[in-house]
Amino acid sequence: MAEVNVLVTGAGSVLGGEVSSSDDVKANCALCDSAVDVAASIGDERFACAPCLRDRLDAMSVARFRLTAGRPSGIPWGKVTG
Ligand SMILES: [Zn+2]
Repeated sequence: MAEVNVLVTGAGSVLGGEVSSSDDVKANCALCDSAVDVAASIGDERFACAPCLRDRLDAMSVARFRLTAGRPSGIPWGKVTG
């Protein structure tokens, strides 16, 4: 799994598991193109804010539900065993 790095504006960063304090850190979201309080890495030196990541989680849930609901083998809330 890709490492998750985090930038916290005005406080510091966690990069490769290394925590470092720095007032100079500025977190920017590559998805909504905004300066944010905190952002997590999404690969290739790009970072995203919590609302953008949450939107994507929601979109994944909705898409999976809409595409698999009603299928015998695709119950979205988990496997039924037995
Ligand atoms: Zn964002």
